[in-house]
Amino acid sequence: MQLHNFNSGPSILPPEVLIQAAESIHNFNNTGLSILEIGHRTSWFMEVVQEAQQTVKRLMDLGDEYEVLFLQGGATMQFMQVPMNMLDENGTAAICDNGVWGNKAVKEASIFGKVKVVSDSSDKKYTYINKDFELPSDASYLHITTNNTVEGTQWHSFPQVNVPLIGDMSSDIFCRPTPFNQFDLIYAGAQKNMGAAGVTLVVIKKSILGKVSRKIPAILNYQKHIEAGSLLNTPPVFSIYVSLLTLRWIEKEGGLQEMERRNKEKSDLLYKTIEELPQFYCPIDKVDRSIMNAVFFLTDPEKEAPFLALCKSEGMIGVKGYRTVGGIRVSMYNALPLSSVQAFCALMKRFAIDN
Ligand SMILES: *Cc1c(COP(=O)(O)O)cnc(C)c1O
Repeated sequence: MQLHNFNSGPSILPPEVLIQAAESIHNFNNTGLSILEIGHRTSWFMEVVQEAQQTVKRLMDLGDEYEVLFLQGGATMQFMQVPMNMLDENGTAAICDNGVWGNKAVKEASIFGKVKVVSDSSDKKYTYINKDFELPSDASYLHITTNNTVEGTQWHSFPQVNVPLIGDMSSDIFCRPTPFNQFDLIYAGAQKNMGAAGVTLVVIKKSILGKVSRKIPAILNYQKHIEAGSLLNTPPVFSIYVSLLTLRWIEKEGGLQEMERRNKEKSDLLYKTIEELPQFYCPIDKVDRSIMNAVFFLTDPEKEAPFLALCKSEGMIGVKGYRTVGGIRVSMYNALPLSSVQAFCALMKRFAIDN
């Protein structure tokens, strides 16, 4: 049976990336050694890091005022590393909390200083993005989650503010052309749209650093990672290599414009199918719907279990909604082919006829 991988993360990667990654485990770049066996300070691996950094900057169209780092600890570590490096007693972290991940960013930032949740969308169960906010006069930065992976909402334009803008782009990095230069710090766990678990992309505008008084351990200090060229200690070598392969694939396929064209085609088809079938409904405001993660429900909640059982028997992987949200979540990351969404929509139609 053909499988269709709608996992929310770790998630689908392009088949050719998997083949190249597998080859590199036996023989990396014709060195006769495995990627798992080479030193991280060899010229072989330094070239991997540098090419990955350059490709990120090309895709983001960013200049030398930005630095690209590959760190560990996941996006979850960034919830604390950002405030540790950028928030002290002289300021306030302004955070838009539109879901599970924004909420975690709030909790971690409050360990390091004052936090103001400038907007949240809990009044309507996170079915929209609350873009109506005012910054406190002492805001050190504004933090947003560009795509709410769990709730299925996405920012489609970004706030213009006069403080550093920080974006958690874990689940929509490189899904479309983005004005990355509007952001001062961007981070993304690689395992959703960029590569294998174990590495987190962090892109920083250097001028925002060095403004807090606290002492920062080297491993958590962005400045130290920048000075070390993202090789402060042994990095996640294999995960970085898989990200490089995916970044190359994005460029070869036509870049972010082509990714957006594909992602829109897939998500338009799915949302249209949901609208057409009375057995399903999507509670998310149309203007805020995510092109990466579609969250929707069965009109009759009793039909959810049979629908999920049918999905399972037909090879539709990872479509059960997040545990606190329920319903259905279909993740459509860059590497997911249109044919998988077509197959899923055909199954929805079949289920609708029988129900
Ligand atoms: C998955 C996810 C995270 C958590 O990522 P980890 O790498 O597991 O720490 C944070 N933010 C968003 C938006 C996510 O989708």
